[in-house]
Amino acid sequence: MSYKNCPNCNAKIGKSLMGKPNELVSEEFYQKLKDFLPDDFIEEAYCVKCVTDFNINLERSNLYSKYNSFLLNRLYVNKRIDKKKVLIKELDVAVEKREQAIKELIELKFFKDVKIYSNTPNNIELVGYVESFLVVNCGMWSTASDNFNPLLSVIHDQMASSGSNSDKLLSEGFSKAKDFIKYDACLKGANTIVDFKHSFSELAGNGKILIYSQGTAGIDKDRANIDFTEIEENHNSKLESIKNEIKEIEDYFASRTLADLKTLIESEFSVA
Ligand SMILES: [Zn+2]
Repeated sequence: MSYKNCPNCNAKIGKSLMGKPNELVSEEFYQKLKDFLPDDFIEEAYCVKCVTDFNINLERSNLYSKYNSFLLNRLYVNKRIDKKKVLIKELDVAVEKREQAIKELIELKFFKDVKIYSNTPNNIELVGYVESFLVVNCGMWSTASDNFNPLLSVIHDQMASSGSNSDKLLSEGFSKAKDFIKYDACLKGANTIVDFKHSFSELAGNGKILIYSQGTAGIDKDRANIDFTEIEENHNSKLESIKNEIKEIEDYFASRTLADLKTLIESEFSVA
């Protein structure tokens, strides 16, 4: 196919009255560009003038600068980068769904099934340290842990409607501190907390009381325990496939950098 003008930069092809004649790059070199450049970027042909110009600011004409803008997803549509953005959002959603499923499993099925011991029975397989913090303050509560956001909003509502009876608040505080630490034990795959202790202290002069609970999560094999297998099976393959798709796109561009393009061009043309 013959062109009067370069399909990429529109420069005139052939002899010119002034300056050197311009020509299209060879079919052989075009094939190399075709192997390198993404299908949503490549033009039907390129001329020597726009291929050998490395001025980075000519992002509407020379190949090098255009490709730079394309990689930055600027001026030109880059379907792979667009796809990656969609995938990253999908990954966030998938991670959130998995976390939600874990929370629901803990709250609905096993939350109440964790047993707490102040001593350490010897048939318990120890898993790890668990703790929770809670501040009681005239009907408003907060905690140092992030795990309980859904639970906390419920407690805030409960406390707001229960007035500010401090004895009641405190005893409910201990009860909630236990629930929080049970939740943490469930997250660790445990059904028991041993060596459990509460302590509390008044925070300096502002009427707030800190409740601190601690213990060691463990597994009592004689009782049912929380099982995340189904959640892992349902969610992990989805997460893995999204991650793989993202990696494929990253790998694709990892071998097609701007520097790689320059090397390719310089292998064909000696550019002054
Ligand atoms: Zn051109």
